[in-house]
Amino acid sequence: MKELKLSFEPYNLQLKHPFIIANYSRTTTPIVLTRLEYDGLVGYGEASLPQYLGETQESVMRFLRKIDFSRFANPLQIEEILNYVDKIEKGNTAAKASVDIALHDLTGKMIDKPWHSIWGLDKTKTPFTTFTIGMDVDEMVRQKTEEVAEKFKILKVKLGGENDKRMVEVIRSVTNLPLVVDANQGWQDRSEALDMINWLSEKGVVMIEQPMNKDNLDDNAWITQNSPLPVFADESVQRFSDLERIKGAFSGINVKLMKCTGMHEAKKMLDVAPSLGFKSMLGCMTETSCAISAAAQLSPLVDFADLDGNLLISNDCFDGVKVINGKIELNDLSGVGINLLSPVF
Ligand code: MG
Repeated sequence: MKELKLSFEPYNLQLKHPFIIANYSRTTTPIVLTRLEYDGLVGYGEASLPQYLGETQESVMRFLRKIDFSRFANPLQIEEILNYVDKIEKGNTAAKASVDIALHDLTGKMIDKPWHSIWGLDKTKTPFTTFTIGMDVDEMVRQKTEEVAEKFKILKVKLGGENDKRMVEVIRSVTNLPLVVDANQGWQDRSEALDMINWLSEKGVVMIEQPMNKDNLDDNAWITQNSPLPVFADESVQRFSDLERIKGAFSGINVKLMKCTGMHEAKKMLDVAPSLGFKSMLGCMTETSCAISAAAQLSPLVDFADLDGNLLISNDCFDGVKVINGKIELNDLSGVGINLLSPVF
């Protein structure tokens, strides 16, 4: 008898460099890998669990144990299956994404097509991805920028601290590549934030992410109205249901699979974004090439991509989509576009 079988395994990603954002640093990221099997085919998924988002390997595995796939005769009932998984318990968005990605990988293999092709997206229309320069002492910032300036066409910098202008000046001493600035809710005063954005726009910055606190929609909206640069929501937008609430407060949305429960809901968000007046981007956590390749399937739909999470780790257990001359290059592998490299499970 054909049946859907889910298995999962905790795994720890090793970062090539410590990841530093405002008063916080880490050298590993815990994840849970998922494997969904049906009729001799296997799909892979992943939940990435940076500490500040609240899910853990334990919480993900506890959630995954609650799923009863025996009620579904066919994996191609994607909408029904994911609705059921979503209703098991609130939250747990990364755990849900690990099921969503594995289900897309599996069903793509059943249909024998990559998801970008199933969705009818033009694989040549993928964007450049940003590469993030983390906060660090001047010499390290200069060195990191020199290392990556040749390989990428657009860089991202995390600001929201005391040395914001200095970070930008150091990067500008190395390269004139366009920059995206992520303030990670770090700016406290809207007038000061706007002054900073005006200064940044003269420094070749092309977009600002989440200037102020996620719940402070009034000040974020005021900045968006007065800013010479597009202002994107990240922490202010998690799921599809958030879009109406933040309409008008931002010029764009940063969609991440781990926030929005996966590819199915991400596609819905990106499809509706233009009609609500939003530009869009795809972001990521520190992830293997599994979740990055899954997000990349949607990348022909977005204005910006920040899909560098797999490039930051030294023990990627998947081979997947590539970044070539700074541009995301989709492959023709069916599913989410990956091969498992090391037999972790
Ligand atoms: Mg962000």
